[in-house]
Amino acid sequence: MLAYTYVKPGTFALLEKPKPVLLHPKDAIVRVTLSSICTSDLHIKHGSVPKAVPGITVGHEMVGVVEACGSQVATVRPGDRVAVNVETFCGSCFFCRHGFVNNCTDPNGGWALGCRIDGGQAPFVRVPFADQGLTVIPDTVSDEQALFVGDILATGFWAARISEIQREDTVLILGAGPTGICTLLCVQLQHPKRIIVCEKDPQRRQFVREHYPDVLVVAPEEVEAFVQNHSDHGGADVVLEVAGGNDTFRLAWTCARPNAVVTIVALYEEPQVLPLPDMYGKNLTFKTGGVDGCDCEEILSLIAQGQLDTTPLITHTFPLQQVEQAYALFEERRDGVIKVALKP
Ligand SMILES: [Zn+2]
Ligand SMILES: [Zn+2]
Repeated sequence: MLAYTYVKPGTFALLEKPKPVLLHPKDAIVRVTLSSICTSDLHIKHGSVPKAVPGITVGHEMVGVVEACGSQVATVRPGDRVAVNVETFCGSCFFCRHGFVNNCTDPNGGWALGCRIDGGQAPFVRVPFADQGLTVIPDTVSDEQALFVGDILATGFWAARISEIQREDTVLILGAGPTGICTLLCVQLQHPKRIIVCEKDPQRRQFVREHYPDVLVVAPEEVEAFVQNHSDHGGADVVLEVAGGNDTFRLAWTCARPNAVVTIVALYEEPQVLPLPDMYGKNLTFKTGGVDGCDCEEILSLIAQGQLDTTPLITHTFPLQQVEQAYALFEERRDGVIKVALKP
């Protein structure tokens, strides 16, 4: 089969590889029906993910059909349509039992698929700990609707869940890229009084205005004054920082009111400054990433109920054979791209 492969920093290539096989009784093999490109794939390509292993197939956002299961797999059967979780976790260690699956202590735990082991920009993928890593997709939910459940939608859902959002709150979301929009959708489920989205790209600001007319949209240059004027207690009650830009960590805490919750979802490429003397007395609570991706069943049920819809984010679809063109479009942010789907 042809699999899109991390050859070395700077180089991905579509290479011929053998079809994956079961290596452990808890493994499943999934025939990938739809996958997508994530910004994290670009981080691997640029050599900024030290754990990424050269030679692996990339891709960690995908849906498919179970092809084969190991003898200890209990929750899925061959033929089941499934969403694949970006995180591999054992389900039984201290962290897994507390829902902190991102910190699973198993050697295979954490972000393994498409980083340390072969991922899903290929026709087939082996998924370890299939009972935890696969979630059956309800019949009424399409592949397109389920595509982001295991990664960026799981991230948005987790971020909204831990941010202690109340009905009377003004919530500020920094960043309206794919994960920012997923975060927005999950924050909307909690019905805060007001949601403000701050985004530097005019096209993405327009995308949010068009699709989510109830949301207030602002550019970074104006966000501090805007939040002051559109909040009840001198700043946002909750801030979710999803942008990861040069100045967005500072904006996150300066736009927060005293005693606010500031949730950092973004993955920064540089260290950030936490100027404690400047924020002394503001009594902020910071929460930091990464995602505990263990809510996929609940997310899929919200999609089935019509409460979550990420299909507008899929702006482009390519066959896997044209993966090079798909990456170029995504990387150069051409043609209003938000997310690209790949069909093996
Ligand atoms: Zn990702
Ligand atoms: Zn674990």
